[in-house]
Amino acid sequence: MFYKSTRGGAKDITFSQAVKKGISPDGGLFIPDENCVLTDEEFKNLVSLNYRDLAIEIVKKYATDFTEEQIVECVDNAYCSGTFPSENPAPVTKLTDSLNVLELWHGPTSAFKDMALQILPEFMTRSNKMQGDGKEIVILTATSGDTGKAALEGFKDVPGIKVIVFYPEEGVSEIQKYQMITQEGKNVYVVAVKGNFDDAQTGVKKIFNDEAFCKILSDKGYELSSANSINWGRLLPQIIYYFHGYYSLVKQGTISLGDAINVCVPTGNFGNILASYYAMKMGLPVNRIICASNDNNVLTDFLHTGTYNSNREFMTTISPAMDILVSSNLERLLYDVTVGDAEAVATYMNELKNNGFYTIDAKTSDTLKNLFWAAYATEAETMATVKSVYERYNYLADPHTSVGINVYEKYVQATGDKTVTLAASTASPFKFNKSVAEAIFGDELPSELNEFELLEYLSEKTENAIPEPLKGLDKKEVLHKSLCVPETMEEKIAEILNISL
Ligand SMILES: *Cc1c(COP(=O)(O)O)cnc(C)c1O
Repeated sequence: MFYKSTRGGAKDITFSQAVKKGISPDGGLFIPDENCVLTDEEFKNLVSLNYRDLAIEIVKKYATDFTEEQIVECVDNAYCSGTFPSENPAPVTKLTDSLNVLELWHGPTSAFKDMALQILPEFMTRSNKMQGDGKEIVILTATSGDTGKAALEGFKDVPGIKVIVFYPEEGVSEIQKYQMITQEGKNVYVVAVKGNFDDAQTGVKKIFNDEAFCKILSDKGYELSSANSINWGRLLPQIIYYFHGYYSLVKQGTISLGDAINVCVPTGNFGNILASYYAMKMGLPVNRIICASNDNNVLTDFLHTGTYNSNREFMTTISPAMDILVSSNLERLLYDVTVGDAEAVATYMNELKNNGFYTIDAKTSDTLKNLFWAAYATEAETMATVKSVYERYNYLADPHTSVGINVYEKYVQATGDKTVTLAASTASPFKFNKSVAEAIFGDELPSELNEFELLEYLSEKTENAIPEPLKGLDKKEVLHKSLCVPETMEEKIAEILNISL
């Protein structure tokens, strides 16, 4: 299988090239150049496999320039080396006859990004060797909280790679901050940036586009790369857990093999939800994909009207990983639903860049409406859902997951469709414990507790265990104290890499 660009400017790209480059030179995203559809026989046989073996089978379909041995190594290192507490990294918990939660947060950073960022470094080192010019890769990431830590954990001590994470000094929770500044590893660097997430992200984007700076790095043997969710190597691993979740429902007796399910995903950059769409294209029986947003409801409006308009106020919410106005991975879906019209996709993306909006044609919009159902949850609705899910099902759902469940309930109310649904749960409730505790305990919550004390409080009161990676964070040694302003990020990188500018 080869890959091509959504904007038509690149084709016959191998898997290892797509992973190494991350983004196509024409600005487009890499997508497979043929549909990968499982035969009925294959679909039936995969049900008996454990996560590891299922992962190997699915990766094999897409990483066709990797040897089987390489693929097995990648999967074993990612999912079987003790980073996930059990053989199944993505268990399914049944809340009602129709609502089932696919828990994607049992990895080392307690958020779903681990599912992909544990295996991306494995893909990346091998791709770099295969495509290599011998340069050392420097992963550069601006984070609003979850991606940075997951990238640090994924890439720590990986030979031939360094990782530098910039986080907004004012923009992450105490837990997220401590997760990052206590990060161990010989090749990891964490820098606070004075400002908000936008300042940090704009700074990183500028660095990628600064040709003179990149040339200096290149001369010293370094090449910049990103762990962003537009990399195909991050999307591919996400397809696996939709199959695994489906087969779990079969094994739990909730559905029979072949029954269609609905999938519900709390969405930010459109990566996780797009993976469910790819799973459906491969033959996973999916009836409807439910797209859940928070107050930044640009996708809800788009799926309802056909107009994507990012000219709106940016809202800071209690589900911060979904506070996004430009959902990059949507470009891949557009390519598909326009039946491969790269020119149209390029035009839409240019309009978005220049004017902040674009409108697709009515036929394409109708196609999308048949595949996706979209709604959003307000802040008050999200808080109420955290509380009611706990009270009704004795289950702790973090705010992102609760956005999904709230929208799922709106869907059932609007359509009456009670099809068994797999709802993606994207973070441990303990990672966003402040909102969760406030939602559940309200005024009862002792106001003097800090985020670390709140972990204990929430755990004791609800009789849920704190995930291992979040325990004792505030007692760990702070290893990263670096701070800069957006204007001096390049100097910081030079200092870290020991380069004089
Ligand atoms: C990243 C993230 C999301 C959004 O996922 P996308 O793939 O960007 O749509 C949702 N919830 C949590 C907790 C996340 O970290």
